Amino acid sequence: MSYVLVVNSGSSSFKYQLINMATEARVASGLVERIGEPMGLAVHSNVDGTSDIERPIADHTEGFAAMMEAFAKSGHDLGETPPSAVGHRVVHGGKRFFAPTIVDDDVAWNINDLSELAPLHNPANYQGIVAARIAFPDVPHVVVFDTAFHQTMPAEAYTYAIDRELAERYRVRKYGFHGTSHKFVSEAAAAFVERPLSELKQIVLHLGNGASMCAIDGGVSQDTSMGMTPLQGLVMGTRSGDVDPSALFHLSRKAGFEADDLDELLNRRSGLLGLAGTGDMRDVSRLAEEGDAHAQLALDVYHRRIRHYLGAYLVHLGGADVLAFTAGIGENSPETRAEVLRGLEWLGIRIDPERNALPNRGPRRISSDDSAIDVLVIPTDEELEIARQTIETIEGAE
Ligand code: AMP
Repeated sequence: MSYVLVVNSGSSSFKYQLINMATEARVASGLVERIGEPMGLAVHSNVDGTSDIERPIADHTEGFAAMMEAFAKSGHDLGETPPSAVGHRVVHGGKRFFAPTIVDDDVAWNINDLSELAPLHNPANYQGIVAARIAFPDVPHVVVFDTAFHQTMPAEAYTYAIDRELAERYRVRKYGFHGTSHKFVSEAAAAFVERPLSELKQIVLHLGNGASMCAIDGGVSQDTSMGMTPLQGLVMGTRSGDVDPSALFHLSRKAGFEADDLDELLNRRSGLLGLAGTGDMRDVSRLAEEGDAHAQLALDVYHRRIRHYLGAYLVHLGGADVLAFTAGIGENSPETRAEVLRGLEWLGIRIDPERNALPNRGPRRISSDDSAIDVLVIPTDEELEIARQTIETIEGAE
């Protein structure tokens, strides 16, 4: 039987899930956090309950040791029965990685080398890979990239209209992110409507704390709203999405902002947080309902940006068969879905208010039966997609 350990590594924490590939069920999951702080914590859960370990965790290698201890405490000795493979989420694959890849020293080094494109993410992903290879030296490790699904975009979609040579030298172009989710959701949507993926034009709306949209034709990404980094495009929890770059020159000249200040401003203090004072959609919605004008404007900007990309992608694709909402907001907020698609009956988009309001958890249709475009809610499952791609990559190499 094959089990895949899926690892999503951050700079001071990592999340993991152990997935039984025969049933695609989670066997265990957990979080190791506060790595490098005076007191670390590993919280582990499986069907029998939870166990935690609290002690200093100096680095990711000690983090994996803590994870294995937490597994052992709950009756599963990973040393004796290790996973069949480890799948790692990696944020940036640059131009180099367009498919999941089995890790060797060279691949690991290349992921670290791409850190300049994703300084917040790739170094942490790299640390997780190094540590997991120490913990599980005898099993294959596979890296699955957030950018890979979008490597099919045509040049006119990924090229920024700036000096060509400079852009090439510094690898400046659109890469796109959330690829694992866009791929999983578009495949699940095709299965839901019982039509071949190859025949479908789809627009996937991944609306979580991070948010992006993707135009997909026949299962192939044609365009996506995030850019060289996960900052471009939609309004997010704390990220601004699209801003005129000249606004940054202006802030730099007039308010003395340095590059790092601008990075902080746009990535961590903007979006819903910047406009409404909270980056959590539930709080923004509540404030707006209570009559808070800033929160209402935040919602209006949020919805309008999504509609902007929706219009663009309908034109690029020449129409759509499926719109699929996913992630925290896309899956759970009927208000967001209704607002985004308000008044689009002329485009053949008809939402059934009752279906939209149902608090159903699984994949579902929220459009009415006479809607020309199927509007779906498809819960995303990035860990399962990483596990599937991990196994496919290993089998493909055999
Ligand atoms: P994610 O990054 O996919 O976990 O999504 C996080 C976002 O989903 C946050 O902005 C949450 O406020 C939002 N969210 C979760 N549940 C709901 C809900 N029931 N209604 C509105 N937003 C929600």
